[in-house]
Amino acid sequence: MPNTKVVTRFAPSPTGFLHIGGARTALFSYYFARKHGGEFRLRVEDTDKKRSTAKATQAILDGMDWLGIHHDGDIVYQSKNEKRHQEIAERLIERGHAYPCFMTAEQQDAERQKSRDEGRAFRSPWRNGGKFPKGGTMVVRFRVPDGKTTIIDQVQGKITWDNKDFDDLILLRGDASPVYMLAVVADDHDMGVTHVIRGDDHLINAGRQKLIYQALGWDVPEFAHVPLIFGPDGKKLSKRHGALGVDAYADMGYLPAGMRNYLTRLGWSHGDMEVFDNTDVTKIFELSDINKAPARLDFDKMAFVNGEHMVRADVDTLVSYGQAFFKAKNESPLNDAQTSRLTAALPHIVSRANTLIELADKAFFVTRERPIQITGKAKKTLKPDTENRLRDLLFVLSGVTKSEWVDQNLLEHLQTYITKEDIGFGKIGAPLRACLTGGAPSPDLSLVLELLGRDETLGRIKDCLETYY
Ligand code: GLU
Repeated sequence: MPNTKVVTRFAPSPTGFLHIGGARTALFSYYFARKHGGEFRLRVEDTDKKRSTAKATQAILDGMDWLGIHHDGDIVYQSKNEKRHQEIAERLIERGHAYPCFMTAEQQDAERQKSRDEGRAFRSPWRNGGKFPKGGTMVVRFRVPDGKTTIIDQVQGKITWDNKDFDDLILLRGDASPVYMLAVVADDHDMGVTHVIRGDDHLINAGRQKLIYQALGWDVPEFAHVPLIFGPDGKKLSKRHGALGVDAYADMGYLPAGMRNYLTRLGWSHGDMEVFDNTDVTKIFELSDINKAPARLDFDKMAFVNGEHMVRADVDTLVSYGQAFFKAKNESPLNDAQTSRLTAALPHIVSRANTLIELADKAFFVTRERPIQITGKAKKTLKPDTENRLRDLLFVLSGVTKSEWVDQNLLEHLQTYITKEDIGFGKIGAPLRACLTGGAPSPDLSLVLELLGRDETLGRIKDCLETYY
């Protein structure tokens, strides 16, 4: 489509959360629009009044917001376009491409069975006209033309259907409400959508929709049907295997950037690029790089990719996205002193964690509040004969000033002490670590000292001597 501005859209039905398959389709639509300097629109397909809820709409908006997929223009609510859909159905009737149908439910069932038995699509006797019955319920049906329908899908390639296999589908129901197939064509046209990118469960709908576009004399958009995401076992994605909302992934401690990267790479590739951010992808995203084969969810890879983004993230990002996790680990929000110790520690420990949950665990030794509980194996290292060693170390470390309180220097002080006492590092390492961390995971001891800072270190050793000896 030369000289036409690219317009893509994400068109979720608000009947649940923003699941990861939908999120990935939204990302593809978003990146494709950005790559081509076009627009990415959001349409909430809320025509199913029984199943659509405001809560689900909000969950979808929150999910997109969290993922950083920002739509252009106003949100279109499909239910608001009902009149327009009815007008279009009317126009199709006028042009002979649709017809009023008065079949009763029983007649429909019988015809459906008959067409199935004869191995053909559903046709209504009303397609040939007839006198309108009194009091009957009228639906509007599409008159499927003879012939074949072909689309060149940007992912799936050329696909041809025999129109004989398409039902004369309902466009307007008995209460004049439009069905998905009509609403989607009308709205995509009215919104100027040039590329329809969606899950391949809609592939056959592209054939049906193309017929409606043609009947209306409208340009048919390009289609790109993305293979679905399968579970790690290669089967349909189940809840247990990851068919969850993006909010569940946020709760599992993934960063939006990590999730964006993982979902994008799942089903799309560009050379050997594995770890990338928005800016990279918006420059290069093409539909031709979407894989034709379904992708399998791989949690190890998801964690790995997220870990890479955690290392790349700045400390403020980690602190703000990690807040809920640090709070949960500490069972209370962090105060200023805890936050400042955390901020200093993050660059040293972030490479040890793939998720924010793991990060909160690895950071716990600095975020803990005095007096810290020493339990389990750590407590066992506090043997009676270590008391004097800990008192010595308290004395030695008290002699180190704040400005000298750095990793290497502290290590030298510890080493001088063990040389003087003629003992191995093991004699002091384990009990000192127990006093300082309570047994929480921690890096090298001298780094633990530096990250805790002078006051906290001395305070924790004192607490330990008072409580456990
Ligand atoms: N509302 C449809 C769904 O959530 C998508 C329609 C479309 O993308 O054409 O499955």
